[in-house]
Amino acid sequence: MTREVRLGNLRIGSDAPVSVQTMYDVPLSRLEDKFASRMGVLKAMGCDVMRISYPDVKEHDALAKAVKECPMPVVADIHFDYRNALDSISCGVAGLRINPGNIGARWKTEEVVKACRDAGLAIRIGLNSGSLPENVNNVSKEKLMTDSALEYISWFENLGFYNTVVSLKASDPEATYRAYKLFASESDYPLHLGVTEAGGTVTSCVRTTWTLGRLLSEGIGSTLRYSITGRIEDEVTAGVELLRSLGLRKGGVRIVSCPMCGRKSFDSQSFLSQVQDDILATGKDICVAIMGCQVNGPGEAKGADVAVSGIGRKVYLYRNGEIYKEVSADCAKQELLDLIDTIE
Ligand code: SF4
Repeated sequence: MTREVRLGNLRIGSDAPVSVQTMYDVPLSRLEDKFASRMGVLKAMGCDVMRISYPDVKEHDALAKAVKECPMPVVADIHFDYRNALDSISCGVAGLRINPGNIGARWKTEEVVKACRDAGLAIRIGLNSGSLPENVNNVSKEKLMTDSALEYISWFENLGFYNTVVSLKASDPEATYRAYKLFASESDYPLHLGVTEAGGTVTSCVRTTWTLGRLLSEGIGSTLRYSITGRIEDEVTAGVELLRSLGLRKGGVRIVSCPMCGRKSFDSQSFLSQVQDDILATGKDICVAIMGCQVNGPGEAKGADVAVSGIGRKVYLYRNGEIYKEVSADCAKQELLDLIDTIE
C-alpha cells in the first residue's frame, strides 16, 4: 500500500478510493461564464480533481475565481516559471503539478516545495517521456523517468515535504506500463496514472484502458486521467467506467445502450449523444437502457430502472421493466429526463 497524500479534502493513496481527474480545456483568459455549472456537472459525473493550466500571473484573478467556483480540488498546472507556481498558491489551489526538469535551477523548484510545505499543498511530480533529462547512458525511458522521479522526491524530502504524487507518462502504452511498474517496485509514493497524448476518443480509450486496467488490477495507481483529444466530459466518463468495470467504484449512473443496427426503429446512437451528459450529471444510482428496437429493448428494459426503446414506429419509455408511456421521438429526451427526475 502507498503512503497517503492530501489534496485539499481529498485523500490520495493508501486505502483511499482511486480518484478521477481531468483538465480544464479553456484558457483562464477566457474562463467560461458557465464554468461553475460545468464543473458541477463534471463532479456529478464522477470527477474528483480539476487541473487548470496556469501559464501567466496575469490570470491570477481568473484562477482565484475558478478555485472559488470549482466544487473539486483544483491543481494548478505549471511549466517553466516557478513564480507562476508561487503565485497560484495565493489563488487557493489545493496542489500543483510541476515537472522540476523544466522549472530551471534546483533552487527554483525548492522555493516552490517550501511554499507548498508551508501552505499544506500537494505536489504532483509530472514527468513526461517527451521532456526527460539527457539520456547519457542510453537507459530505457522507464528507468530514466523512475530515476528522475526518485531524485526529485529526495530533493523534496530534504526539505521536509512528503505530500507528493508522481506520474510517469509516455505516449507509448507499454513504456508507460513498465515505468509505473518499475516506480511502484521502488517507492511507496502514490501514482497518478495516464497515457499521455493518447489520441482521439477511441484510440485513447483503447490505449489507456489497456494500460491502466492492468496497472489497477495489480494494485498500482491511486488517481488517473484519460487524456483524450476531445471532450473532457468523455475523459471523466471513461475514467469512471474503468473504475466501475474493475469493481473499484460503486454506484452512479449505468447506461446500457445497443450498438444499433439496420433493425432499429429508434435512433439510439444520436439519442445517446444528446442525453448522455444530462443522465450522467444526475449522479443518481440508476441503470438507464437506451435501445433501438424490440429485439433486445424490452429485455434490457426489464433489468433497468428506466429505459427508452423503439417498437415499430413508436418510442416507449419503461419504468422498472414495464411500459410507462408512449412518447414522440422529439419529446423522448425531455420525457426520459423528467422520468429520471422522479427517481429518488
Ligand atoms: S436492439 Fe435492435 S436496433 Fe439495437 S442492436 Fe439490437 S437488433 Fe439492432
